[in-house]
Amino acid sequence: MATQLKEARLLGYPVHLVDKTQAETFVQEALSRQKTVQVVTLNPEMMMQGDENPVLSQILKAADVILPDGAGLVWALRKQGHSVSRLPGIEFSESLLKWAAETNQPVALVGAAESVLALAVENLQTRFPGLRIVYQHHGFFKPDEEEAKIVQACADALPKIVLVALGVPRQEIWIHRHKALFPGAVMVGVGGSLDVWSGKTLRAPAWMRRLNLEWLYRISSEPWRIKRIYKTLPMFVVKVWLAGFDR
Ligand code: UDP
Repeated sequence: MATQLKEARLLGYPVHLVDKTQAETFVQEALSRQKTVQVVTLNPEMMMQGDENPVLSQILKAADVILPDGAGLVWALRKQGHSVSRLPGIEFSESLLKWAAETNQPVALVGAAESVLALAVENLQTRFPGLRIVYQHHGFFKPDEEEAKIVQACADALPKIVLVALGVPRQEIWIHRHKALFPGAVMVGVGGSLDVWSGKTLRAPAWMRRLNLEWLYRISSEPWRIKRIYKTLPMFVVKVWLAGFDR
């Protein structure tokens, strides 16, 4: 029987209360049954975007694995009485890549600037010896025939792990729209992970991550993010307070 993931609900969005091992085991089991798995790395910004964008909202709610990625999300879930820790999407993706290298699973990477992607591939192959990247394409293509060709070429390469870095909501919509072409694959929207793997951007130091302050580091190193967070985070906090902290 297929494993069920423990689920909580926040502002109408399901979130899975999982650690890395549980999420990874669920994915491996699903893939062994030839199921396609869409993974969403949920944070408050995405939820607030979803409230304005019904297509995104539906996709977030229907994803197979919904990881508690955002610090604000974990704060709200803990207020509800759940015992949960942040599971950053980048760390989950790295554990999938490690598994892929160890078990010879083919990987596809779509997204980021061409030079960033090339550097990320080089670094990932050094970090995970044996990693088999069967398809890669940068993320600056037109959403028309060019996209159709990229999707088809990617599917023809038969990847088992597809990491898509096109930003929210494009990457979630892209995965949802095309997942039928990827039977038995896990598909993850990875945001800025390729930029980190390329060395172009740095993750917060470990002490900041431990304190769930990675978001603070990101806005201090990429100040343009302040506007985005400013637009969404206060709204999230207000909505969570208004909804109360009942489960
Ligand atoms: N990106 C892309 N094509 C686009 C827009 C963005 O490939 O048309 C890439 C961008 O280069 C970056 C990633 O998508 O690698 C999005 O990163 P970001 O940190 O902004 O993600 P988010 O905050 O939306 O999760």
